[in-house]
Amino acid sequence: MVRVVLATHNQHKAAEFQQILGDAVPGLEIVAYDGPEPVEDGVTFEQNALIKARVATQHTGLPALADDSGICVDAMGGAPGIFSARWAGSHGDAEANLRLLLDQLSDLPVGTRGAHFTATLALVTPEGEETVVQGIWPGRIARTARGSHGHGYDPIFVPEGHESTAAELGPAVKNAESHRARAFAAIAPALNTLVARSR
Ligand code: IMP
Repeated sequence: MVRVVLATHNQHKAAEFQQILGDAVPGLEIVAYDGPEPVEDGVTFEQNALIKARVATQHTGLPALADDSGICVDAMGGAPGIFSARWAGSHGDAEANLRLLLDQLSDLPVGTRGAHFTATLALVTPEGEETVVQGIWPGRIARTARGSHGHGYDPIFVPEGHESTAAELGPAVKNAESHRARAFAAIAPALNTLVARSR
């Protein structure tokens, strides 16, 4: 087993990563990070994911995986972007965040409401090798919030190829198509290489 520390204090996220990556990468064990919180002062998803992964590997001596994700609206030049979790303020209130975004886009006609979710994953080894991948889920912003599955901006995001929001579509579609699913698929080869090297 190769142990990789996931740079999050969120046990739920660690379990989700173990479940998805455990299947794609036999021989991988994801462990939760328990150490100092890094200052996420990067200006891109990539920088923030790398900051988190570097701190976790320095502190544990294990390879570390970190993610950074958000929603990017075309008409807003990619905002909320890295500010997605605190768009309506530092409280991180998901309902307030999506209400604010809907208000900001209220004048935007159908056809110009393009947006995407992005998930960036960084893998950093104690030897200093760094791999960064990105998964994108293209779509558009709905006019109103709909659906009860998922979290964050799911109720106002209509993925390409669908008429329902991500919160209406539910976990099966999300696990197959989402930005996170695509990022997991993209990082799997680097993790498989780590496992193969340890043998
Ligand atoms: P992080 O977990 O600190 O990277 O924050 C990402 C933020 O982006 C979350 O708080 C959500 O607001 C938003 N976000 C990222 N992925 C998703 C998703 O799959 N659905 C809905 N919102 C998401």
